[in-house]
Amino acid sequence: MSIRLYDSLNREKRVFEPQDPSRVTMYVCGPTVYNRAHIGNFRPVMVFDTLFRLLRSTYGEDAVVYARNVTDIEDKIITASQETGESIEEITTKYAKIYDEDAAAVNALPPTIVPWATDHVGEMLDIIETLERKGYAYATDAGVFFNVPQMEDYGRLAKRKPEDNQAGARVDVDLGKRDPSDFALWKFAKPGEPEDAIWDSKWGRGRPGWHIECSAMATKHLGKTVDIHGGGVDLQFPHHENEIAQSECAHGQTWANYWMHNGFLDMGGEKMSKSLGNVVLLNDLLEDWDGEVIRFAMLSGHYRAPLDWTKDLLEQAKATLNRIYGALRRVWDAEGGIAQDRGVRDALSDDLNTPIALAELSRLAGAANGAADRKDMAGMAEARAELLAAGALLGMLTRTPAEWEQGSDSDENARIDAMVAARVQARADKNWAEADRLRDELAAEGIEIMDGASGATWRRV
Ligand code: AMP
Ligand code: ZN
Repeated sequence: MSIRLYDSLNREKRVFEPQDPSRVTMYVCGPTVYNRAHIGNFRPVMVFDTLFRLLRSTYGEDAVVYARNVTDIEDKIITASQETGESIEEITTKYAKIYDEDAAAVNALPPTIVPWATDHVGEMLDIIETLERKGYAYATDAGVFFNVPQMEDYGRLAKRKPEDNQAGARVDVDLGKRDPSDFALWKFAKPGEPEDAIWDSKWGRGRPGWHIECSAMATKHLGKTVDIHGGGVDLQFPHHENEIAQSECAHGQTWANYWMHNGFLDMGGEKMSKSLGNVVLLNDLLEDWDGEVIRFAMLSGHYRAPLDWTKDLLEQAKATLNRIYGALRRVWDAEGGIAQDRGVRDALSDDLNTPIALAELSRLAGAANGAADRKDMAGMAEARAELLAAGALLGMLTRTPAEWEQGSDSDENARIDAMVAARVQARADKNWAEADRLRDELAAEGIEIMDGASGATWRRV
């Protein structure tokens, strides 16, 4: 089955056809790094990581180039620097590192390329110069602007007319804009702004606008047309609309062949957002929940639909994953099977239908339990292979069942390992009383010892 993706620009599901199957390109707008990201910010991370995994397994691991940028220059970063006294670089490296650690904790693969905006200011200025030469850009006392009415078909993605883009029009009069919908490509430095936020340009010292950053980084690393461009639905307008305007007017070719936008993660019926104050940080969630549980909860909804983030959603994800790992444990020793089931792959190939893919994963777990009940060794080996292959596509089942059931507190696990080892020794010494005492002590903590052919293991029950 081919991959079909919903393209937000054409408003339809289409068969995905990359320009070059040996170099499939995907660009996803990344974080502005000045604070810890909330779990809503990680929805695109998990959604597009799942697509990245599907593409890699379809076209080959080295045939997919996925770029997710870091926005490391922006008004909010400058404000943070002025407030804390830390340099811009200190702030951005600190929060980019936390972001990467959080993304890894929910099993997101590192993108192929992670371009930083400040490393690409030269490329941004080149595009702005081309736009000026072609008559799409002009300078004022405040900066260099893109002249929206010059572009005939502006607004194709968000289906908005330029006139709709007049928020703040009164303020913008000061900027000398020709049209209220014009947007900044380059902003001149204001007095008192930190030196590390200022670059030279032929128009004057300043910094790039946000939209031109993505156009320049994606063009440099992926080309003038990308196969897939993604981000949250709030980026459609104005960010992606303006990326289209800049890139297409400068380069004369389609900016992205497939536009994909994830819906909002809501909490308490409203979009999770810092300005509303209803945020949960992934960093905090990871204290109480395994990253894989968080990922399961996130992918339990279809990416285009809004998803309400609740404790119940996490509890359900945890219970289901426990069941699936429990089934995997029963077939764990049956190696050598070959995975052929297409359930999870087909679900993902249909516009990333993760709710169905997760139902298919549960079905595979049921098949594993069935084979284990029947002591069907061939069936168990096949079920093990199916579960692991499906897990790899979804970014799940990355632990052994023993690791999963033991949890992730390593000090605590070391203590229990030592008690289990002491009991093995007591049995070897035929000190049955001591062996029973240790077993009962562990049982009182909810830990079950499983004596098997390859030694004793344990799990939490
Ligand atoms: P930002 O740092 O605000 O630019 O957001 C980073 C990414 O997260 C963008 O792709 C946003 O569209 C996305 N995003 C922000 N808030 C949410 C939310 N509540 N639900 C889903 N995606 C979001
Ligand atoms: Zn962007």
